[in-house]
Amino acid sequence: MMNSRSLLKHISTQAAIVGAGPAGLVLALLLQKEGIDCVVVERQSRAYVESRARAGLIEHQIVELLRKHGFSEGMDLNGVPHTTCEFRHGGRRYMIPYGDHVHASHFVYPQQFIVQDLLQLFISRGGIVFFSHPAVKIEGLESDRAVITCTSSENSVLKVECDFIAGCDGFQGLCRSSIPSTDTKIFSKQYGIGWLAILAEVPSSTKKLVYALHKSGFAGQMPRTSQITRYYLECPPNDQLSNWSDDRIWSELGKRLAVDGDENLIQGPIVEKRVLNMRSVVMEPMQYKRLFLAGDAAHIITPVGAKGMNLAISDADVLANALIHYFRSGDEVLLREYSHVCLPRVWKTQEFSDWMIRLIHSNADSDQNKDKDFSDRLRQVRLERLQQTDTYAKLFAESYVGLKQ
Ligand SMILES: Cc1cc2nc3c(=O)[nH]c(=O)nc-3n(C[C@H](O)[C@H](O)[C@H](O)COP(=O)(O)OP(=O)(O)OC[C@H]3O[C@@H](n4cnc5c(N)ncnc54)[C@H](O)[C@@H]3O)c2cc1C
Repeated sequence: MMNSRSLLKHISTQAAIVGAGPAGLVLALLLQKEGIDCVVVERQSRAYVESRARAGLIEHQIVELLRKHGFSEGMDLNGVPHTTCEFRHGGRRYMIPYGDHVHASHFVYPQQFIVQDLLQLFISRGGIVFFSHPAVKIEGLESDRAVITCTSSENSVLKVECDFIAGCDGFQGLCRSSIPSTDTKIFSKQYGIGWLAILAEVPSSTKKLVYALHKSGFAGQMPRTSQITRYYLECPPNDQLSNWSDDRIWSELGKRLAVDGDENLIQGPIVEKRVLNMRSVVMEPMQYKRLFLAGDAAHIITPVGAKGMNLAISDADVLANALIHYFRSGDEVLLREYSHVCLPRVWKTQEFSDWMIRLIHSNADSDQNKDKDFSDRLRQVRLERLQQTDTYAKLFAESYVGLKQ
């Protein structure tokens, strides 16, 4: 139902979704598939969200989920399955065929392509997304109907009245801060480590994901497409981009990624660079009255294990099931259980990411007496065990590839 006056639009729907990222779009499609009325409001333009390059590694269970619901056409056509990663340390390579240990694979398919595919599908099936409409106010969470107020660049105001709000608006969004601080607990960890995240228009020197543990700091090489590679360089968390000329980046990557006989890094245009602060945050519970948070809005995780987008899609699946159950039966039990279902997976993933951080950085401990040489020896033992001990490698593989646990 839509009443439009000069500058005020009023919409009524069953579920209002804030944010057209992976969490919001998967949720929107799952609800749409079951005939639940929903709309998405998004702060940015369509062009902006469709070109935002971030994640690239899709877990096995998320690949299965996208396939099960028919959302995987682009990924199946253009994504690349991965089953082996490579660690480099002390001039040696440690190949880990994690896929063989668990008979499963990752998919490399850039996040912006997933967003493009999901948006195209949702809109082509009649779904409504209000782009360039930031949510600025949330009201009525304690009453029968909640209301989201959005503004737009044309100075109009959109009011979306709904039964439930799905806060899929990322870590800097409005929804999380609409929950009273007395009703939540925030858990957070700063690792005191930064990563310079780089996107370069070059093929990577190997098709595998590479984690190089070097005395100057970690370096990573992650293929995204045949012509685009993401690189990471460990740096101080508050480092300035002005310290990183393209020449310095290529020289540092060449040094940290090199193993004997392999300095064949392909150089080319760097199209994006930014400094990421390695930190993790979890909010408990992930819901308040008529508001449910999903994805980065509820928790962020360091990009070390490549899990943020995967968790976001997993939350969206759980929330969709709960909402569908409610709208079919009037039974709120799954909605009440939403946080309890999501949080164990969130924490297991945080634990894995914390383990990965300690594996690939020599200074990830809060211990004041950091002895880099000591932790370097421990890292070497961990890599050897990954190669030589089947049970150790299998545990790693289960978490890394993302099996349903
Ligand atoms: C460099 C980098 C590499 C990464 N690599 C990986 C990886 O390999 N694998 C992985 O799984 N994860 C990775 N991540 C993390 C992943 O990108 C995020 O976890 C993921 O985007 C979370 O999805 P989301 O839908 O929860 O939030 P987002 O993708 O952040 O989407 C939130 C949306 O809400 C919109 N929004 C915000 N505020 C408002 C508002 N007030 N009103 C309306 N709309 C609003 C935003 O514009 C945005 O479109 C990486 C992240 C970075 C930065």
